[in-house]
Amino acid sequence: MTDIVIIGAGITGCFLARDLSRYNVSIAVLEKENDVASGATMANSAIIHSGHDPKEGTLKAKLNVRGNQMYEEICKELDCTFMRIGAYVLATNQEENETLLQLKKQADSRQVPCCIQTREEIIKKEPQLSDQVISGLWLPSTGILYPWEIAIALMENAISNGVDLKLDEEVIKIEKIDQGYRVKTKNQTIDTKIVINCSGVYADDLYATLIQRKDFSITARKGEYFVLDHMKKPYVNHVLYPVPSKIGKGVLVVPTIHDNILLGPTSYEVDDKYAINNTQKGLDFVRGQLSKIVKDVPFDKMIRTFAGNRPSGNTKDFIIEESKEYPDFFNVAAIESPGLASAPAISEMVVGLILDKHALNKKGNVIKVNRPKVRVKDCSIDEKNELVKKDKRYAKMICRCEQITEAEIIDAIHRPCGATSVKGVKKRVGPGLGRCQGGFCEPLVVEILARELNKDPQEIVLDNLDSKMLVERTKQNENN
Ligand SMILES: Cc1cc2nc3c(=O)[nH]c(=O)nc-3n(C[C@H](O)[C@H](O)[C@H](O)COP(=O)(O)OP(=O)(O)OC[C@H]3O[C@@H](n4cnc5c(N)ncnc54)[C@H](O)[C@@H]3O)c2cc1C
Repeated sequence: MTDIVIIGAGITGCFLARDLSRYNVSIAVLEKENDVASGATMANSAIIHSGHDPKEGTLKAKLNVRGNQMYEEICKELDCTFMRIGAYVLATNQEENETLLQLKKQADSRQVPCCIQTREEIIKKEPQLSDQVISGLWLPSTGILYPWEIAIALMENAISNGVDLKLDEEVIKIEKIDQGYRVKTKNQTIDTKIVINCSGVYADDLYATLIQRKDFSITARKGEYFVLDHMKKPYVNHVLYPVPSKIGKGVLVVPTIHDNILLGPTSYEVDDKYAINNTQKGLDFVRGQLSKIVKDVPFDKMIRTFAGNRPSGNTKDFIIEESKEYPDFFNVAAIESPGLASAPAISEMVVGLILDKHALNKKGNVIKVNRPKVRVKDCSIDEKNELVKKDKRYAKMICRCEQITEAEIIDAIHRPCGATSVKGVKKRVGPGLGRCQGGFCEPLVVEILARELNKDPQEIVLDNLDSKMLVERTKQNENN
């Protein structure tokens, strides 16, 4: 019998897997997709919010502030990029100015660093400010990171420390048994003492298979975005929020750690929890809203659009608790924004709930750290020459937009929690993130994946198992 089963390998499941891997327990993570970070963690604004705006008294408020404080150290430990670039909440009229003052009061009470600045002060740092902006709340502790990078690094570390990650394992039913729970996937049955349900938009349906009714409900709220290419002079330098409304933080302008700009998101409920297509209506809405806070948006630099679905709960707050009727079944559900920012603190809280009931032994000082990654793009000429001396594949440029070499892709495939799909490679090292969106590098990535995984190129998928890229051979090899 397994000690702990974690269902879902989004940022919540990845943090839990890594944090629990510090204890002498057996852990299995069951993920329905063929890679980690495939749900809300895959498509979001990537902001580590300061914690200024969740409603007072909520878990969101408490865990966002704590999570923001924790990220810097964790990213250092995992060799992930975290940039505390700061944010402005921008007011465009007197009423919004009043809201800024309320937000400041709330942020002060949470010891979130902040101050009100005038339009004149802000425009020196953000020249593209719209003419309507009259003032802003400056939040220097706001950060940005790369959600895929951190989720994958966490899972890599969890696996290196004994966690069993099972991909393509959709859980379809959970039953109570004498010693714990029987978790049924499409492929197998696993008995476990403890279950942690962090299955995103599906968490309500999954819990209902155990309790035979719905205690809480999760709806999907779609967020749509534009992505702008790198620019010599960044379009903006900080995260720019409008004043928040009842349905959320509004349409933002967000610099990314790769020097792109995200414009979005929308926030509207959708029936299909898994449909992450873009819509003309959604994208037009984003365009329309932007003019409130910025001007001259360089849409000619747009390289793609994307969308993600927030797991939005009827409780309007995170649901992080042990089931009242089913001991040792923990729901970590309705983790909508600021779920990414709160994730380390959510995990800390859940581990605390488990430790309150079970005396788990720490593994001591045998914890393994992740093997360092090489980023050729960031190396000096001398460092590059040294790398090429050791391995010629560091000289073979596969992605010209993002400057990714063959050796880096091979490493991403063979690390623990390695890539098995084209998107998996993109998530780990970045070919396909740039201007050509994979136009040049995708066929080469397919070839490398097939060679390294010892598969036929026709078996290589873009993303999930249904996304085959090659239909049939058009030319036979000379040998065939
Ligand atoms: C548009 C948008 C913008 C956002 N912006 C921000 C932001 O800037 N900052 C911030 O802090 N937060 C933001 N968020 C929220 C943040 O992305 C989420 O809170 C966070 O990613 C939730 O992580 P999770 O692991 O709980 O869920 P998910 O990432 O959704 O992971 C759940 C996992 O469970 C798996 N799963 C589902 N059903 C099953 C099953 N039956 N069996 C096995 N596995 C299953 C899924 O495949 C998925 O991998 C945003 C979200 C969206 C959508």
